[in-house]
Amino acid sequence: MSNEDGARDMGRSLGTRRNAGFRLSNWISVAEKLTGHNPSYLIFQITSRCNSRCLTCFNWQRLDEPEKNDLRLDEIEKVSSGYGPLLQLTLGGGEPFLRDDIVEICRLFNSQNHVQHITIPTNALRPQETRNLTEQILQRCDLNYLRIMLSLDGIGREHDHIRGVPGNYERLRETYAELVDLRKHHSNLGLEIATVLSALNRDSIKGMIDTVARDFPEIDKQAVVLVRGDARLLESKAVTTEDYRSTMEYLRSRNASRRTNVIARLFTAVFNLNTEAVIAHLERGQLPLNCLAGERILVLTPEGTVYPCEMLDRPFGNVRDFNYSMKDILDTPQAKETLAFIRDRCCSCTHECAIHASLLLNWRHYPKILWRTLTGR
Ligand code: SF4
Ligand code: SF4
Repeated sequence: MSNEDGARDMGRSLGTRRNAGFRLSNWISVAEKLTGHNPSYLIFQITSRCNSRCLTCFNWQRLDEPEKNDLRLDEIEKVSSGYGPLLQLTLGGGEPFLRDDIVEICRLFNSQNHVQHITIPTNALRPQETRNLTEQILQRCDLNYLRIMLSLDGIGREHDHIRGVPGNYERLRETYAELVDLRKHHSNLGLEIATVLSALNRDSIKGMIDTVARDFPEIDKQAVVLVRGDARLLESKAVTTEDYRSTMEYLRSRNASRRTNVIARLFTAVFNLNTEAVIAHLERGQLPLNCLAGERILVLTPEGTVYPCEMLDRPFGNVRDFNYSMKDILDTPQAKETLAFIRDRCCSCTHECAIHASLLLNWRHYPKILWRTLTGR
């Protein structure tokens, strides 16, 4: 599962109805990581293996490399030990639950980098394994919030067609049922649905949003992101700005009934700013904010290459060549050149996770977010 949604609303985890025990020390720790200067948001694609064949996958040319190319656990331990505190860890792929040692990976970052918010997107093809591994992560890590995101792009056969796996929809329903049951015993488990808007579902997506509200009542929220990058089926990218705008307005109206408290209003404000930024890019080819990819966000690929984001093909280097030190990689001339390139706004895209993190990790946006929260816009 590629990081289709990543930490699109990682702040959701900062205060949830399910996490009543959030302590003052947690808030202080979150505030330190929010206002720090290191890349405190890591997207780690832990394996290139995938058992889906999604037509919208932007990562499809890099999938299913030989397993031995994936960073081993002992190598990940070295990366983690040299990395500073992490606010958010997103484990993507490939399909992250295909990695049997995912529990150990979570435990490493939890104990060494004090990360307390982990997000795992999944294609939901293995209900029992997903439940078992999720349960072990919850038992072995001290997390404020573990969010599992089920990828759902259509209902029934439409979903199976887009994802390239017959029977995927039914298995996703089973996975959903397993996780809903598991959540009865773990109040810090979050459950969401992530949908990619593409030409393949743009005509049916509103009906699908209704079906999700009816048939998956236990999810915290459904997120929709725009198809991006070099999709396996390029025609799937034929989505207009109007398709995106009207879908997001519809989604917002359906999600509105779930919003009751100030934290939810705050993240509605961020959602709206995020949507507006994507629309600005679609209309003008330029984001209306400074992207913090590379500065506050990093992407680590299965074989150890570090990128500022999932869209820009400008690698900083491979951890295997730098004694597993992220700090040394960020000191390389190519990393500094790319950071200047991003700061000068020489690139722009619709990568919602990067936009979302760039809003949340830059205090200059806070007055605007606060104003939107108070006025409900
Ligand atoms: S094929 Fe699908 S599940 Fe696999 S990495 Fe790509 S988008 Fe994710
Ligand atoms: S604007 Fe897009 S391509 Fe450029 S650094 Fe940010 S996420 Fe990457």
